[in-house]
Amino acid sequence: MIPAPFQYHTPKTVEEALRLLERHGDEAKLLAGGHSLLPLMKLRLAAPRYVIDIGRLKTLGGIREVRGKIAIGALTTHAEIEASDLVRRHCPLLAETAGEIGDAQVRNRGTVGGSLAHADPAADYPAAILALDAEIVAASKSGHRTIPAAEFFVDMLTTKLRPGEILTEVRVAPMSAKTGTAYMKLPQPASGFALVGVAVRLAISRAGKVDDVRVGITGVGLKAYRATAVENALRGNPAEDKMFAEAASFAAQGIEPLSDLHASAAYRKEMAAVFTRRALHRALGRARGKAD
Ligand code: FAD
Repeated sequence: MIPAPFQYHTPKTVEEALRLLERHGDEAKLLAGGHSLLPLMKLRLAAPRYVIDIGRLKTLGGIREVRGKIAIGALTTHAEIEASDLVRRHCPLLAETAGEIGDAQVRNRGTVGGSLAHADPAADYPAAILALDAEIVAASKSGHRTIPAAEFFVDMLTTKLRPGEILTEVRVAPMSAKTGTAYMKLPQPASGFALVGVAVRLAISRAGKVDDVRVGITGVGLKAYRATAVENALRGNPAEDKMFAEAASFAAQGIEPLSDLHASAAYRKEMAAVFTRRALHRALGRARGKAD
């Protein structure tokens, strides 16, 4: 289908984009990679009167180290994150997750900022962002603010971003020693979106116990979530498969799993446990420096 008519703006700076957003309010939409917005516009599920294309704003791109954290600009594509030496070295979970998104075309156009702002319940990054305790930076006409990942996802397609804000950057702390990470997903075969996607960051002690663990899960509920019941069951216990299987059974605790033509609620719940156990196992191997 053809989108409804709209006025197209190409601001030259973030400040100009913020002014346009303020002027046009609810009738405006930001455009980054277009891989979520344009399909919605073509289906007329979205019909913004003003499209503000931020895709050429160089200041929103790039990956760099800032005060001990890895800062990833909102316009960084999935392919750039997957290929970045800095991300692979210090934050391999994010590179691994980016490599699991859609196909090469989607990874070459889609951006991390667009994906997080869109907050699709089956998107991959949210699981990793939660497991990494990342920070999301938003700009508005009154300045910048930082939103912790744990607070960012509010509901299906809804985030903590306020009207008039632009997501500018994601910040992630580098991985510490004796830590392993893994992202494992059951993809919807046509699109690649996660029926279930599990991101794990696991730190083990010298004695082989779970020092710390974060588990982010996407695809199962209306929004991505931290599986705190799994984390609590693991912390301080031996890092071994029997323990992982027991803890993973809590993967969908307190969540009402989605049910659609791709997977029933019961199947998603079961797969959440299966993929959590697998991701824990893989993260443990990596924490011990073993090949997958
Ligand atoms: P856009 O489509 O340009 O924008 C999406 C939304 O975010 C819009 O509402 C826009 O206004 C808003 N927005 C964009 N940038 C900002 C910003 N900086 N600040 C505030 N708001 C902003 N995703 C997955 O996670 N896993 C998959 O397996 C997967 N498979 C896909 C397969 C196909 C065929 C397609 C078309 C998409 C798929 N996607 C998948 C989605 C893809 O990753 C998109 O790139 C991503 O969801 C949106 O990023 P974008 O840059 O294209 O955003």
